[in-house]
Amino acid sequence: MRASSDKCIYFFGEEVKVALHCKSGQVITMETKDCFSNQLEDKKEIENINWNNINPATGPIYVEEAEEGDVLKITILDINVNGEGFILAGEKLGVFGDSLKGTTTKTVKIEDNKVIFNDKISIPLEPMIGVIGVYPKEDKINSGTPREHGGNMDNKKIKKGSTVYLPVFKKGGYIALGDLHAAMGDGEIGGSGVEVKGEVTLKIEVIKEDIKLSSPMIKDDKGYYTVASGETLDEAIEIASYNMANILMEKTNISFEETVMLLSICGDLEICQVVDPLKTVRLFVPLSIFKSYDIEF
Ligand code: CA
Ligand code: ZN
Repeated sequence: MRASSDKCIYFFGEEVKVALHCKSGQVITMETKDCFSNQLEDKKEIENINWNNINPATGPIYVEEAEEGDVLKITILDINVNGEGFILAGEKLGVFGDSLKGTTTKTVKIEDNKVIFNDKISIPLEPMIGVIGVYPKEDKINSGTPREHGGNMDNKKIKKGSTVYLPVFKKGGYIALGDLHAAMGDGEIGGSGVEVKGEVTLKIEVIKEDIKLSSPMIKDDKGYYTVASGETLDEAIEIASYNMANILMEKTNISFEETVMLLSICGDLEICQVVDPLKTVRLFVPLSIFKSYDIEF
């Protein structure tokens, strides 16, 4: 099944026609525009682009079996980007925003699994998904903001081979995704990754009982990460930490005190991004901890 990038949303939770219906277990390829809706690629100058068309998320996809309270397990089978990407530095954007005047864009070539920054520097191609989310719990949320529903998490771990777990807040789930990056540093401190259009192939499954989630979780070959966003990093850290503690306590007989100890000695706190309207962090716990108790989601 294929979802075209022509069907996209700018708000999670807005009432639009569903782009695609699928069943649990189905594999879908989703075509995505870049975060500027391909306006730079169409040779529009940055001064002239329509800022209402930023961060388009292809979808939404309605998953037949998904009911409120379930979890969507989304396995990223492949991410394809090629050609060229765009990087931005600008006034009021990111950590350096107060020191910059106007907006500067840079076009970079992507070839031989590298992003060519200049004639001396090339960066390994590490495609990731900036925006992936579901219909939110309460009000609609613009696709540039991360929250419990996922959204603009700008999380480097959302890459080929990873699995993203999202809570279902509304029957059908309504998955949408976009904002691919050919590369991005943790924090995305300038406010931009290597912004690219592309194609994501994923498998969508519904988990009914095994786990309850109040915000996103990710798994890769190294371990699990709880992901949380907040007004401040402190707030996001607290949510991600409690969520991980609750997941572990739910599946083991370890006390709260010992869970705190365990997370303190082997949980790695990492920054996803500090530049979107809310800030996003993740708490990593190695796979071996989960394997000790035969926990697998
Ligand atoms: Ca983003
Ligand atoms: Zn982006």
